[in-house]
This record gives sequence, C-alpha cells and structure tokens, in this order.
Amino acid sequence: MTQRYDVAIAGGGPAGAAAAWQAVQTGARVVVLDKADFPRDKPCGDGLTPRAVSLVQKMGLADEITKFHRVDGVTIFSPSQWELSFPRRPGMPNHGYCIARRDLDTLLLEHARSAGAEVRQSAEVAGPVVDEDGRVAGLTLKSGERVLADAVIAADGAYSPVKRALKLTSRYNGYSAIAIRAEMQANRPDSDSLAIHLKLAFQKDQLPGYGWVFPMGGGRINVGLGYVNTYKRWQQINATQLLGEFVASLPPEWELPAINELHKAKAVQGWRLPMGFTAWPPWRPGVLFAGDALGAARPASGAGISKALQSGLAAGECAVAALVNGGPDDFTNYQQRITSIWGREYRQGRLFHRLAGIPAVANAGVHLLDGVNQAKSLARLPFREDTRSAS
Ligand SMILES: Cc1cc2nc3c(=O)[nH]c(=O)nc-3n(C[C@H](O)[C@H](O)[C@H](O)COP(=O)(O)OP(=O)(O)OC[C@H]3O[C@@H](n4cnc5c(N)ncnc54)[C@H](O)[C@@H]3O)c2cc1C
Repeated sequence: MTQRYDVAIAGGGPAGAAAAWQAVQTGARVVVLDKADFPRDKPCGDGLTPRAVSLVQKMGLADEITKFHRVDGVTIFSPSQWELSFPRRPGMPNHGYCIARRDLDTLLLEHARSAGAEVRQSAEVAGPVVDEDGRVAGLTLKSGERVLADAVIAADGAYSPVKRALKLTSRYNGYSAIAIRAEMQANRPDSDSLAIHLKLAFQKDQLPGYGWVFPMGGGRINVGLGYVNTYKRWQQINATQLLGEFVASLPPEWELPAINELHKAKAVQGWRLPMGFTAWPPWRPGVLFAGDALGAARPASGAGISKALQSGLAAGECAVAALVNGGPDDFTNYQQRITSIWGREYRQGRLFHRLAGIPAVANAGVHLLDGVNQAKSLARLPFREDTRSAS
C-alpha cells in the first residue's frame, strides 16, 4: 500500500508536532509518523525556557501551558549562589515552566492533529524512500508500507533513523552531550526557580557540563546532569554513578532516594543530546532535518525543546514555501533561515564546547564565575536565550 502527501514527518516529538502544525496552516496535506504510542515519556530535564514558552504560545496553546509548574528564574550554584530572574524582553514571557514530557509532547501532537495533520502512532519508520536521482521521496515503515511525499521532515530525534540511513556526513558531526536524569519526590516546598550546579567533577577534573534540580510541582523534582563529549575521558564516566553522587550531595533534609533505589524503580534515564547542528546543512534534496535530528540544541546550555519547536516551525514553513515555489530539490530557504537565527551563536557555541572540554579551562571558567564582580552577568550567558526575534 502506498499513500501520497505533501509533507511526511518522521517523529512526533516537539520538532515534528511543530512542523506539522505549521505546515497544515497553509492547507498542505501532512502526515506525522511516530513509532511510539502517546502519551510516551522522553528522558528530559522537563524545563521550558521563556523562548520555548513563547513558541508554545505562538502555536495557540497559551492557556493550556499555564496549567503546568511555572518558574520565574534560575538559581546558579557555582558554588556561590546566584539568583537570576528571566529577563524581560518585548513580546516574550519572562517565565518558563516545568512539564513532564509525556504531557507536553501529547499536548503538542494532539494540537497538530486537531489543526488538520494526520497522526499515525505505532508507525515505526525504517528509513527514507530515495528515488533514482538520489532525492528523498518518502518514508518506508517497518511494516513495509511506503508513504510518499513531496517533502520529508526528519524530526526523529537524537538517533534519527532517517539521517543514519542516508549516511550523511557533516563538518559539525560529533558535537554531543550525554545527559541523564531521574524524577523523584522531595521533602521541600515547591520552588519557582530552576537550579543549576556548575561544579561537576570526574576524578577531580571539572566537567564541561552541569547538574540540575528542576521543580515539577506537587513536591516532585527532576534531578539530572549533562556533560559534552569534548572532554577527552567522557567515555570513562559512569553517568549513573555520577548522578548518584550528585543526588547524594543535595540537602539531606530533602530525603531523596539513593541512586540504586531510583535505578530499581526505573526512574533513571540517559540519552544522547546532539548539538551545534550535527546534520549541517539542514536539508538534502527532498528532506529537511529538525530538532535533535538536526542537532539543534543550544551548545552552551543543551536547551533543546525551544530549538526543536523553533526549527520544526521553520521546517514546516520553509518546506511548503519551497514546494509552492519550485519543488523539493532545493530547501536553501531553510538553511538561510537557520543561519540567520542561530549561525553566529552556534559558531561561538562550538568553540565554547572545545574550550570547555579542557578541564583547566572549565575549572578556570567556573572559578571566574564564582569569584569575579561581574559573576551575575557572566553567569547569565550560558542560560540566556538569544534575544533576537523568533521568526
Ligand atoms: C536527559 C536530558 C535532559 C534534557 N533536558 C532538557 C531540558 O530540561 N530542557 C530542554 O529544553 N531540553 C532538554 N533536553 C533536550 C530535549 O529533550 C531535546 O532536545 C528535545 O526532546 C528534542 O525534540 P525532538 O522533537 O527533536 O526529538 P524527540 O523529543 O526525541 O522526539 C523524536 C520522536 O521521534 C520518534 N521516533 C524515533 N525514531 C523513530 C522511528 N524510527 N520511526 C518513527 N518515529 C520515531 C520518537 O518516538 C519521538 O517521539 C534534554 C535532553 C536529555 C537527553
């Protein structure tokens, strides 16, 4: 059986749902294929930055998002403690939210469906259909079914089967973080701040990363950590053990479970987080990459939800614009869009990665943040969202 669409999207996470929602606004015939059955979980810190909130608002979900746990700023432990509120920016919220991904992703995908996209769950994509000219012309499901489309959007996450099947090389390939988290009950009042702990060490080396404690509401917290792979001994790190040490370093009066209990309860989940545009350029004939499949997470902080939404919206819009104006062989418009929004920031971010991977530099950086008079403004940098407009 073969079906034909204007746009077929592999993956119904934030990137895929945003792309679908945007593409159907123009009347395009859109299908989203996801291997999971929603609601499904996704290993994440569950923290939405103000920019992510603004994009959810842009998709028409301003009221729905207020039901979740609101956060008004970031507390940075370096190990000195800095309280930072999110900046006020024109047309942007000055707060974020913490939302379990099973709730957020279900909300977004349902929204794309009610806007007109066809959503197929338990539909695992095996790879792209590639025509005789080498152009991606659709997706093949594991069941053998072929779904043909004028444009394919690969929003199939960090391990993107579409990207792997195409054996793409990119000059930015390999930039990635390892992140791990566990959700748990804590004996403390709910906070309205995201806590970031910059002191994160492996055998006395300061790691290029940080630990976090994000409040979920109802006494639950999401505790996790992440580090980038420019640190040369990253493969020697036992991430679960490191998370256990981090959990144990938190205030004893919170009465947090030990890591082996969390592990037994299957609360500990790790995942790879590609960043800095691992699929560059972000398109090939017939296909555009968005979200983690593009490696869209911010190199400085690892914030990936806002970038998944932003790149998904841009991919949905640019795919349709290119189809209407000349066909699917050229999605340069998408590349131009991504470059104009993030080009400079991501160039600096990749450099930041390489430098932070050197323990002496990472250590000096944290020391500087901790001690210098301007620590407050310096500390804002890694967690601040770019102030340019999200178009
Ligand atoms: C531990 C951890 C903590 C994080 N914390 C934060 C945070 O607090 N804030 C933040 O902004 N970012 C965070 N991130 C990053 C964020 O989770 C990702 O950047 C974001 O989920 C990317 O969205 P996406 O839609 O591209 O991919 P995903 O959310 O991974 O969605 C991809 C979808 O594709 C589907 N899929 C995969 N393979 C197939 C297939 N073969 N066929 C069909 N469907 C398929 C999956 O089922 C999934 O639904 C974190 C990442 C990790 C690993």
